Amino acid sequence: MQFTDLALAPSILAAIAEQGYQTPTPIQQQTIPLILQGKDVLGGAQTGTGKTAAFTLPILQKLSTSTTELVAKQVRCLILTPTRELAQQVADNVAAYARHLQLKTAVFYGGVSVNPQLEQAAAGLDILIATPGRLLDHLHQQSISLYQLEVLVLDEADRMLDMGFIHDIRRIMAKLPAERQTLFFSATFSPEIKTLADSLLNNPVLVEV
Ligand code: AMP
Repeated sequence: MQFTDLALAPSILAAIAEQGYQTPTPIQQQTIPLILQGKDVLGGAQTGTGKTAAFTLPILQKLSTSTTELVAKQVRCLILTPTRELAQQVADNVAAYARHLQLKTAVFYGGVSVNPQLEQAAAGLDILIATPGRLLDHLHQQSISLYQLEVLVLDEADRMLDMGFIHDIRRIMAKLPAERQTLFFSATFSPEIKTLADSLLNNPVLVEV
């Protein structure tokens, strides 16, 4: 299978080629068509498998081809990560793959000034990559609203639970619309992870690599 078989826009295919990627990895081959179809996905994948592009590329395709106008403070796609390092890494990937698209993206994590984040939030965001604690700060201050969220991604969900973020995640989940697409990635599946996945996903397709 080639990237050109995956129903992605020419501007996204160009960005992939500029990254030097030649063929989609197994998780990309399996996951990209499912996400484009609007399915919820439960992905068992380690770092290094290409999972970031597996969820980012179809999200970019969907967000850039639907006509929704950005609304102040609203977010269309939220990608939650356990650490700021991972948040920044995902944000760097999103920026590379979206370089030919006109999408507003931002990355919010703690330990840095909130002011630039407030400005970015005020304009509305197509994609927000965030760690749970700083996102909750924004939700409490009402500088961000997830009321119109279309896609939720939990990346490295097992690490989020290991780091004690379960209550933060539950608080964030309470602010999400029921009707949305959810993509849940974890390298391991403990009973706690399964319970969390069950409560977030709607009829998911399981993808394991
Ligand atoms: P990830 O598993 O998302 O952390 O990705 C691991 C690494 O693989 C990153 O450095 C990506 O840039 C790279 N990568 C992702 N997809 C591909 C691909 N289809 N071909 C070559 N490299 C890729």
